[in-house]
Amino acid sequence: MKRAFSNQGDREFDVIVIGGGPAGSTAAALLGMRGHRVLLLEKEKFPRYHVGESLMPYCYFTLERLGVIDQIKASNFPRKYSVQFVTTEGKLSQPFYFFQHLDHEASTTWQVMRSDFDQILLDNARAKGVEVKEETLVNRLVKSNENVEGVEAIHKSGKKYKFIAPITLDATGRDGVSMTQNRWRMRDPELNKISIWTYFKGGQRDQGLDYGATTVAYLPEKGWFWYIPLSGDLVSVGIVADKKYLYRGEKELAKIFFREIPNNPWIENHLKGSQQVGQYWVTGEYSYRSKFCASNGLLLVGDAFAFLDPVFSSGVFLALRSGELAADAVHKALSIGDCSAKQFLDYSQEMVQGIESMRKLVYAFYNHEFSFRGFVQRFPELRGDLTDCLIGNLFRNMEPLFEGVSEFAQLPRPVSYGRPQVEL
Ligand SMILES: Cc1cc2nc3c(=O)[nH]c(=O)nc-3n(C[C@H](O)[C@H](O)[C@H](O)COP(=O)(O)OP(=O)(O)OC[C@H]3O[C@@H](n4cnc5c(N)ncnc54)[C@H](O)[C@@H]3O)c2cc1C
Repeated sequence: MKRAFSNQGDREFDVIVIGGGPAGSTAAALLGMRGHRVLLLEKEKFPRYHVGESLMPYCYFTLERLGVIDQIKASNFPRKYSVQFVTTEGKLSQPFYFFQHLDHEASTTWQVMRSDFDQILLDNARAKGVEVKEETLVNRLVKSNENVEGVEAIHKSGKKYKFIAPITLDATGRDGVSMTQNRWRMRDPELNKISIWTYFKGGQRDQGLDYGATTVAYLPEKGWFWYIPLSGDLVSVGIVADKKYLYRGEKELAKIFFREIPNNPWIENHLKGSQQVGQYWVTGEYSYRSKFCASNGLLLVGDAFAFLDPVFSSGVFLALRSGELAADAVHKALSIGDCSAKQFLDYSQEMVQGIESMRKLVYAFYNHEFSFRGFVQRFPELRGDLTDCLIGNLFRNMEPLFEGVSEFAQLPRPVSYGRPQVEL
């Protein structure tokens, strides 16, 4: 392998990855497997808490490539065979069983405790030769003539570092170090929900195949609950809705949460006799994309590049997939000794295509004229394409599906953001 950028200095690497979530650990491990000298900097000490527990079937293929699929299979994460939708009256629709569409063991996925899942991925990066420094916060990208040349970081002990590499991957999640430093965060014009979530012990579980299903239960005005059974006796329950709807007449998170529970009888029944545990979490600034996905010496992955409303549990899948695509693009760039922005045009095109498909489906979900049941009744031949979106088979032409969907709901125009910053 050509090592055009290799240096002997202690603080110089082939690749710096900022952030040890699914996107960063994936990219780092795959680059480590190809013999690159990779440094991963993570501000927390793992295992650390993270929201985003429900996986999509197509996560399987990246997990397999990373070499962790057997570990995940052997874990006690509940198996997820389907996603199901519940009306505001509490009526359950026919679940979308992934195996009815995908004849592969990937059709079974998992509800993961993210602290454990992310630890598996980070340990795997270490095992693949990546140098991991935890409790090390990156506070600045180091630039020279608009080329990113590395990062400045500070360890919890107060010790400061400067690390240099021809390419830095920003996998800092919603913190978005590059988006913040460069003012690249572009909020989605319409997807501006907020979310409040917490955990319950002893919530009711469906039986058999539906034991580990993700349930999306509607609230008035197109808000919704998620109900995600985790391992042990724990259930993750969250509300996503307009800020105005949630904060009407009440500011306290627990009170808002409990006010909404009776608004969906299925949720109310499932939480009967359960006990709320831990804190309430809240997040705003819901959907966004970075103006650019790359500049010279810099590439953005996972939530540090784009975040979409989590109604279809696409976040971890997109993080894994972008980590994988980024690793391939960076390997190629390092091999030819050119990590300039233009090397990441294909990466951008592929990611933006997948994100746009998911984004259209999210817009449809929030449209009052759209319902899955109505759509599938009218276009039974498109049920397969729809299920493809729900399982993560997104990186292909989805035009027929969205032509059908547009007969029910006005779909958004693609936004132009997310290309590499080729011209300065
Ligand atoms: C309310 C809500 C519900 C969600 N539900 C789901 C779901 O059910 N299913 C799903 O697939 N997705 C869900 N998501 C999305 C999912 O959480 C994310 O898409 C996913 O975690 C993205 O992975 P990532 O690796 O890009 O970022 P992260 O997982 O956020 O990892 C980023 C890492 O970078 C570290 N970091 C940040 N800043 C710095 C810094 N300056 N220096 C060093 N380290 C840094 C952080 O500590 C963190 O470990 C949800 C998100 C939200 C907000």
